[in-house]
Amino acid sequence: MPLVNMKDMLDHAHAHGYAVGAFDLVGLDFLEAIVVGAERARAPVILSLAESHFSHFDLELAMPAVEAAARRAQVPVAIHLDHGASLDSAIRAIRLGANGVMVDASHLDIGDNIDATRAVTAMAHACGVCVEGELGYVPGVEGEDAERHPGPVQYTTVAEAKAFVERTGVDCLAVSVGTVHGRMKDKPGLDWGRLKDIHAALGLPLVIHGGTGLSDDQFRKLITFGVAKINYYTALADAAGDAIRAAARAGARSYTALLAGVREPIAAEVERCLRVLGSPRFQCNK
Ligand SMILES: [Zn+2]
Repeated sequence: MPLVNMKDMLDHAHAHGYAVGAFDLVGLDFLEAIVVGAERARAPVILSLAESHFSHFDLELAMPAVEAAARRAQVPVAIHLDHGASLDSAIRAIRLGANGVMVDASHLDIGDNIDATRAVTAMAHACGVCVEGELGYVPGVEGEDAERHPGPVQYTTVAEAKAFVERTGVDCLAVSVGTVHGRMKDKPGLDWGRLKDIHAALGLPLVIHGGTGLSDDQFRKLITFGVAKINYYTALADAAGDAIRAAARAGARSYTALLAGVREPIAAEVERCLRVLGSPRFQCNK
């Protein structure tokens, strides 16, 4: 199936009561495993590349592979820049093939966040590219991904969300209602009332970052309150790490022997997640 515009993908999910999984990939093993997991679940998928992971791979080298994987996939695929740090980052990602970009200026005060996001929206919309903004702050708690998101939680408020969307023109909004990046220490408590009010005020597809650790029931409830994109990475990274540790314990020593078993657990976790998110069953025969 060809690449699908991320806005069309999220609008469809929002209108039909399911969510699309967005999985950060940090290498070819992740790329292949994420697509396999999505094909097994017959669900649309967002191949997500986070700027905070660019120390692990070269975006310019990775994007042709990501695009090739998307084009030969048997499910709808979008390519997204996750946590883009600047207008230049968004321009670069779009030039290299992203059809969705996130501007993460959520650490700034709301006025500066609006200015930074509006600049990206004007540029991206001129290219037909979908923009995700973030308002409120989703911090990290534990684990590799958590360290990239320091600081305390800041919940999204309804009034600010309304003003933010009106003034920036974003297509979807990442909100902070109690999830964290990385691993949850306890069972997460989500502010359902806040989420419900934000969705009622905006009517836009909402995005949740920090999907790892949420229960199946919490995922389903998020969707009923307008969440159409779930970012899910830490569980994949941990599954891959577990496979490498098991291989090492079994005597593997070389790079290829250590990595030989990482794809299957990543694909299995992607498939499990996407089945919970409840998409219609897509399938296209090449
Ligand atoms: Zn995130």
